[in-house]
Amino acid sequence: MTPVLRVTNLRVSFPTRRGVLTAVDGVSFEIAAGEVLGVVGESGAGKSLTGAAVIGLVDLPGRLAGGEVHLAGERIDILSEAEMRKVRGRRIGMIFQDPLTSLDPLKTIGQQLTETIRTHLPLGRRAARRRAVELLEEVGIPAAAQRIDAYPHAFSGGMRQRVVIALALAAEPALVIADEPTTALDVSVQAQIIAVLKRMCREHGAAVMLITHDMGVIAETADRVAVMYAGRIVEVGPVADVVRRPLHPYTAGLMAAIPSLAHRTERLAQIPGAMPRLDAIPRGCAFHPRCAEAFAKCVLARPEPAVVGASRVACFLHEAAPEPALATT
Ligand code: SF4
Ligand code: MG
Repeated sequence: MTPVLRVTNLRVSFPTRRGVLTAVDGVSFEIAAGEVLGVVGESGAGKSLTGAAVIGLVDLPGRLAGGEVHLAGERIDILSEAEMRKVRGRRIGMIFQDPLTSLDPLKTIGQQLTETIRTHLPLGRRAARRRAVELLEEVGIPAAAQRIDAYPHAFSGGMRQRVVIALALAAEPALVIADEPTTALDVSVQAQIIAVLKRMCREHGAAVMLITHDMGVIAETADRVAVMYAGRIVEVGPVADVVRRPLHPYTAGLMAAIPSLAHRTERLAQIPGAMPRLDAIPRGCAFHPRCAEAFAKCVLARPEPAVVGASRVACFLHEAAPEPALATT
């Protein structure tokens, strides 16, 4: 079956005085209908930029420098901005870290929902309003029929993000891109919002690209996970495999940093060092200065992705099985 989203060899670059910096470097992945792909990595890994590139919203001076993006089989990275604006909202719903960036403070949430619904679906004013109330009920806004006429500031952060989820799904998009959807929220409501997001996308049949720095969120939410480091995907596979047996040392480091999975008596493990800056990405394996398992080759050559089980991993510890040596006499 055609995947909802297919990203092939995506590259995003930034021209600078000292040359062109590559922030997303040959990223490829697919998301099937109804599937949640978690994209995880520390700040600066290129996750948000990958999401922005998919929806044609890379900020200048950044630019799409290569690759292809297909939505339900149709190539969208070559569409005009006017065409892309229709794709966003109608076919791709978006949820960002701060709900207030997605909501207009001067309009009631009912106005915003019915506008979105009517822009994308052939419904009259009253039918659209009924649909809006239903959506608010679905995301768990109490007394939705009354609160629909309130302004965003009347809602708490968690309730606002529920409204944003309703808004993202209002046009029944095929794909939802959620970038750190709970990072700005109180810890006590984060799990609820993730649960609402997951349930809504499942019920509405949307594929999800869930971008987060939080491996704990991924472990609980995603079907598959793509781990990004320095602009590349270093490991991608089914979440059960990646969580139980991370192949890449960077993935293992992220896993060790999940509070709920670490032993209570131990301190949380931290990966030493920091994500490299774009203008200082190390030669060889970009992770080598931080990797406890690095060896000579890691400094010299860049590991390419190899298939291991149901996963793909770019690390010299997991190279594809070598060709059997030819017998020599
Ligand atoms: Fe570590 Fe080498 Fe694997 Fe990179 S290729 S993650 S440095 S072992
Ligand atoms: Mg980000």
